[in-house]
Amino acid sequence: MAKVAINLSTGALQQEEVIVGIDLGTTNSLVAYIHPEDKKPIAINDQGQGTIVPSVVHFTDTGETVVGTAAKDYLITDPANTIYSVKRLLGKSYQDLGAHKDYFGYKVIDDDSEGLVKVRVKNTFYSPIELSAEILKELRARAEHALKTPVNRAVITVPAYFNDSQRQATRDAGKLAGLEVLRIVNEPTAAALAYGIGIDPNEEKTVAVYDLGGGTFDISILSIHQGIFEVLSTHGDTYLGGDDFDRAIINHWIQENQLIADTVNLDKNLSQELRLKAEEAKKVLSSQQVYTSSIEGKMECHLERHTFEALIAPIVTRTIESCRQAMSDAKLQPEQVDAVIMVGGSTRVPMVYEAVSEFFGRPANNTLNPDEVVALGAAIQADILAGNRKDILLLDVTPLTLGIETMGGLMDPIIPRNSKIPTKAGRQYTTSIDGQVNMKISVYQGERDVVHENRKLAEFDLKGIPAMPAGFPKVDVNFILNADGILKVEAIELRSGTHQEVEVKPQYGLTDAQVEQMLLDSITHAREDVNARMIIEARTTADQMLYQVERFLEKNGEYLTEEEIQLTRQNVQQLKDVLASGGDKDAILTAVDVLEEQTSPFAERVMQISIKKAMSGKKIE
Ligand code: ADP
Ligand code: MG
Repeated sequence: MAKVAINLSTGALQQEEVIVGIDLGTTNSLVAYIHPEDKKPIAINDQGQGTIVPSVVHFTDTGETVVGTAAKDYLITDPANTIYSVKRLLGKSYQDLGAHKDYFGYKVIDDDSEGLVKVRVKNTFYSPIELSAEILKELRARAEHALKTPVNRAVITVPAYFNDSQRQATRDAGKLAGLEVLRIVNEPTAAALAYGIGIDPNEEKTVAVYDLGGGTFDISILSIHQGIFEVLSTHGDTYLGGDDFDRAIINHWIQENQLIADTVNLDKNLSQELRLKAEEAKKVLSSQQVYTSSIEGKMECHLERHTFEALIAPIVTRTIESCRQAMSDAKLQPEQVDAVIMVGGSTRVPMVYEAVSEFFGRPANNTLNPDEVVALGAAIQADILAGNRKDILLLDVTPLTLGIETMGGLMDPIIPRNSKIPTKAGRQYTTSIDGQVNMKISVYQGERDVVHENRKLAEFDLKGIPAMPAGFPKVDVNFILNADGILKVEAIELRSGTHQEVEVKPQYGLTDAQVEQMLLDSITHAREDVNARMIIEARTTADQMLYQVERFLEKNGEYLTEEEIQLTRQNVQQLKDVLASGGDKDAILTAVDVLEEQTSPFAERVMQISIKKAMSGKKIE
C-alpha cells in the first residue's frame, strides 16, 4: 500500500490530489472543485451534461442503477423502482416521517422499531445511505472523468438543521461511495464561504441565508467570528419549495380548462406533460413577462407573470414569516444583518428575490448561481482543509472519532473525527430489556463500524437504574472533550438522577503512525464495515421484534384468536430460522416485514398495552 502522510492539525490524509466539494441536495446535487490555476471554485460539468445532477436513482430490470437526468424520466413510467428525495429519509426512523409517509411514490418499509427507514425495490431493501451513496458515486465518477484524476476525498454539505444521525448517515453514504469525508459542512456556511464571507478570521459578520429549493425551504441566521460559523437560528418548512409553484400553475390551468380537468386524472402522460410545462413556464417567467406554449392537440398553455405571482404569493409570504421567526429566535432586528444570501433554484423567481430583499431592508446577494453556490462553498472548505490556504488558521481537531458501543457491538459515533476542540456532544439511550437496572457504557475511538476493530478507551457501569419496562429509562450520555484533549464521559438516568462518569485522554499512548493506520484501515474496509453494520442492524431489529412479539403473546394472548396465535408463532419461527441460518439482511428484513404486517393490527386492538412505546428510542445492551 502506498505510504501517505497525515496532517495532524486537520486529521486529513495528505495526498497530492483534488478534494471536491459536494452539495447533496433533495432535488439536485452538484460537485465542485478549486481550479488549480486561477484558484477559483467551479462546478464540474462533465461532457457538457450540465453541472446539475438530479438526485434521482432508478433501478433497471437487470439491477443496475441509473442516476441523474436519465433516471428522472422513469419517475412517471416506473415510480416503484425510481427513488427521489432520498435526502428526506437520511438518518430517519419511520416514526420520524410521521404524516409524510404517503409523500413517497416508492415503498418505504415500516419495521416500526427504532431502526432507520428502508426502501424496498423489488426484493432488495436499501437504506437511504446506500441510495445516497449511488448519487455520490455518480458525482465522484463525473468528477474523475472531467478532471482525469482519482477523487477520494470530499467535503459534503447538509442543511443546518440536520441532527447527528442525519449527519452520520451522510458521512456513511460518502464512505460507501468510496470517499473519505473530511468534513460535513452546513449548507448556509458553504454559501457564505462562496461569497467570501468568513474567510478572513478577523471578520465579524451576521449573515442570513435564504434557501428555497425544489421541495424544501430554510432560513439560517449565522454569526461569523474568528473563522467560526455559529448557527444562531434556523427556521423553515421541509415540505415547501419550487414544486409547490409548479403545482399552483397546474391547478390554475386545470381550473381554466374544463377538458383538461376532466381528463387529467385518467391520462398519465397528460399529467406529466402538464408538470413539465408548468416548470418550464415558471422558469421562463423568471426572466420574461409572458409564457406561451401548448401541449399538442390538447391545450394551449399561457401564463402571465402577474398571474403567476398572485398564485404563489401565499407561499412566498409563508417563507417571509419563517424569516421573521428566525430573526426573533436569533434576537436580532433586520438592520443588524450584514448580508443576505440567496440559495436554491427557486430564488430566481423575481418575486421571491424582492420579498426577501424587502424584509431585510437591503438587496440580497444573488450574483453567484443559486444552484451552484453551496457546492462552490464546499469546494472552498475542501481547499482550506487541504491546507492550500495558508492564510487561514485551522483550529485543533480530534483526529479520530469518539463513540460508544451499542447493540450488536456497533460503534455509535458521538464526536466525529475532525471536530474542533473543545467540543461536547451527547445522545440519549434507553434499555432493551424489562427491568434492566444496569447499563454498560463502553467508550471507543476509531473509524470502524464494529467496535472490536476500534480502540477501547474506557468502560463503566451505570448502576441503580430504577426497574422499568424496556424503553422507558432515559439515559443521557455526554462526551465533553476539553482543549487539552481530555475526554469526560458521563451517563445520567434522567428519571432517577443516577449518575456515573469517567475521564480519559484519547491521544494517550497513540502514535501518529497508529492514527494513520486506523484511518487507512477504515478506508480499505469501508465496504465490509457497512455490510457488517447493516447485517447487525437487521439482526438487532429482528431480535427486538421477537422480544416484543413474544412478550405480547405472553401478556395479551387472550385477546387473540387461536388462528392468530398459530400464525404469529409460525412467523416468529420463520424469523428465528432465518436468523439461525445466518441469512442475509434482505432475508432477515423480509421475515421481519412479514411478522410486522401480520401482528401490527394486534397492538391497536389492545390499545392500552402499548407494544410500540417500548420500541422507541435507542437501546444499549
Ligand atoms: P434542492 O436544493 O432542493 O436540491 P435546487 O436548489 O436545485 O433544489 O432547486 C430546484 C428548484 O429550483 C426546482 O423547483 C426548479 O424548478 C427551480 N428552478 C430552477 N431554475 C429556476 C428558474 N429559472 N426560475 C424559477 N425556478 C427555478
Ligand atoms: Mg439545496
